Amino acid sequence: MDTLKELFKIGNGPSSSHTMGPKKAATMFLEEHPEADRFVVELYGSLALTGKGHLTDWIIKQVLGEERTEVLFRPEVTHAYHPNAMKFFAYQNDELLSEKLIFSVGGGTLKELNESLDVGANYYKYNTMREILEYTEEKGISLLDYVLESEPQDIVDYALTMVEAMFAAVERGLVTEGVLPGKLRLKRRAPGFYKIYLENKNPNSLVFAAALAVSEENASGNEIVTAPTCGSSGVLPAVLYTFHKHYQMGIKRLARALLVGGLIGNLVKHNASISGAEVGCQGEIGTACAMAAAASAYLKGGSNRQIEYAAEIALEHHLGMTCDPVMGYVQIPCIERNALSAQRALDSCEFALHTGGEHFIDLDACILTLKETGKDLSPHYRETSLGGLAKAVNKKASSQ
Ligand code: SF4
Repeated sequence: MDTLKELFKIGNGPSSSHTMGPKKAATMFLEEHPEADRFVVELYGSLALTGKGHLTDWIIKQVLGEERTEVLFRPEVTHAYHPNAMKFFAYQNDELLSEKLIFSVGGGTLKELNESLDVGANYYKYNTMREILEYTEEKGISLLDYVLESEPQDIVDYALTMVEAMFAAVERGLVTEGVLPGKLRLKRRAPGFYKIYLENKNPNSLVFAAALAVSEENASGNEIVTAPTCGSSGVLPAVLYTFHKHYQMGIKRLARALLVGGLIGNLVKHNASISGAEVGCQGEIGTACAMAAAASAYLKGGSNRQIEYAAEIALEHHLGMTCDPVMGYVQIPCIERNALSAQRALDSCEFALHTGGEHFIDLDACILTLKETGKDLSPHYRETSLGGLAKAVNKKASSQ
């Protein structure tokens, strides 16, 4: 598995695969062709179908230059390798200099055609939870110890930076009123939920408010931390922020919890996928919920087995969850889903802590099931906005 620095990244929303990845790809292509005076970018598959709502064309033009860049949406072109493909063309005096096919495979990571979808570097000795549990039990160490011995030495400082960026997004979102960008004209709801928390001091209200805050910041194209993706970036910060503000836990402890949650995200990324275009929302929100459940169980003193169980329950009960963003915006169902899943992460943690950690389906089996279920999902439910809620809303709109 790769370093957690590749999982947790600061970037602009609303989508790690549809905004952050294309931004990175455009930046790389521009650096390779500084002499070009014109660019054409073709978006394929899922990038073409939901690119508008995910601001894909906008971010590419921001990087390559609005005046000299044409972005074409070609949903009919698909690649078996991965659904998120884009091709860059560079011209000088109308002569083609170069073309490049790039895939944005989730979490802001880029690949070229037929490059292994496995993560690049291998920082970890063991890549399944079963092996990790056996190893940590044999050595008498915690899951956090395993992360610390696998990662670069500055990983705790890196995690602290990520938690600070997460909390900055929460705090901006809690006080920002107004309407989200896009045709849905959704009103921001985090400030209203936060007001309720300030009155009732119920931690559930704070979890909801903080998750809405980050998700609304993400939907506005503002800075968030992928956890593991932009669309699911509200879950983990909401849980950590609640431990911080409501239960007064220190930020250094929260950074360590983030690393424990990160281990779960890394296992899903390595052994299945965190890309909604590849496996549906189970890979995004399901993974985020499992990460937050594991982090919570760590903060509450859970054993390695209880942490694994918390993550497993959270993921198991998101299996099959589809990705069907209405009109291609990372808003409905995404924003509410972050809030509900943050609460579910806390419930999963509590459930696991009521046991000794023994249970029937282990996390590895659950991750494998996620992968297989993702393959079985119709493309309509994998970030194309062709089915589910997106279709229902389109039907309703066209009948009015
Ligand atoms: S439905 Fe889930 S996977 Fe799809 S865009 Fe929204 S948060 Fe991402």
